[in-house]
Amino acid sequence: MIHKLFYILILLAVPVFSVSAHKTTPEFSLDGQYKILIVPGHDEESTGAVFRDTKEEDMNIKLGLFLANLFSASGGKKDPNWEVYITRDWDGYQEWLLDYLEANKENIADFQEIISQTVTDEHAFNVVHLDAQAEMRTRLYGINKWADENQIDAIIHIHFTDYPRKNPSQRGDYKGFAIYFPESQFKNSFKSFALGSFIFQELFKNYPVSDYLPESLGLVPEQKLIAVGPNNSLDVPAILIEYGYIYEIRFSAFWKRDAELRKMSQATYNGLKNYFRYLEFIAKK
Ligand SMILES: [Zn+2]
Repeated sequence: MIHKLFYILILLAVPVFSVSAHKTTPEFSLDGQYKILIVPGHDEESTGAVFRDTKEEDMNIKLGLFLANLFSASGGKKDPNWEVYITRDWDGYQEWLLDYLEANKENIADFQEIISQTVTDEHAFNVVHLDAQAEMRTRLYGINKWADENQIDAIIHIHFTDYPRKNPSQRGDYKGFAIYFPESQFKNSFKSFALGSFIFQELFKNYPVSDYLPESLGLVPEQKLIAVGPNNSLDVPAILIEYGYIYEIRFSAFWKRDAELRKMSQATYNGLKNYFRYLEFIAKK
C-alpha cells in the first residue's frame, strides 16, 4: 500500500518538473555526483531482434554511445556531475567488466543460485520476454552484482523489440516505447519507478507509448527480467527501456534511424537529469 501511495505521489510530482524542464537540454545544474551504468542489450552472439538488415544489438550500442557522450561532453568539457560506464561498445565488452566477471565467476554463480531459489508468485502484467541464454543470464547477474558493489546510482538497459509473427520480414502491427521497472515488492522498485517516470515524460514528448496492450501504460512492473533485479537481487534503481519496435518506419533508413537514436538518447539524458534533480529536491525538504 505504501508503495502504491509513493507511485501516485511520484506521478503527481513528475508533471511539475516536466513543465519547468521542457527545453531540449535541462539548464539547471545538479549538486551531487552520480554514477550511471548504461547496458546496451544483447551482443554479437545474441543479437536480439533483427528486421531485414537492421540488428537490435547495433541500435542498442549506438543509442548507448550517444547517451554516454551526452554525459561526458557538456560544453566540450567533462561534466563533473557524472561518472558514466557503458558495458560494451563496437569493440565488444569493456575490459573492466570482463575482468570483473572472470575474477568473480564463483561468487556470481552462487549469487545466481540463491536468487533462483527464491521465486515470487505475484506477476502483474505477464508480458512474455524471450529468455536470456544461460551465458547472458550469468553476465547480467554479474553486471547487477558489479553495480551494487560499485554504488551505481542508476542502471539503464537499452533495447528495441519485436514479437513473433507469421512473416517477420514484413512490418508488424505494434509501435511505441515501454519502460520496465521492478515490481513493488522489490527493494529497488520505488526509485526505479521514479527514474522510469522522468524518462517516460521526456520520451513521451516525441514518441507514442507502446500500443501492445500489456505495455500500454508505458511503465510496466516486472519481476522476472534479470536486468531490473529479480527476487530482490539489486539495490540500484534499474529500468529496461524498449525504445520501440525495430520495424517501425522511423527506424527504416540509416539516416532516419541515426536521428531518432540521437533524439531518444537526449530524452533519456534529460529524464535522468530530472530524476536526480527530484532526488536532490526531496532530500532538501
Ligand atoms: Zn532486446
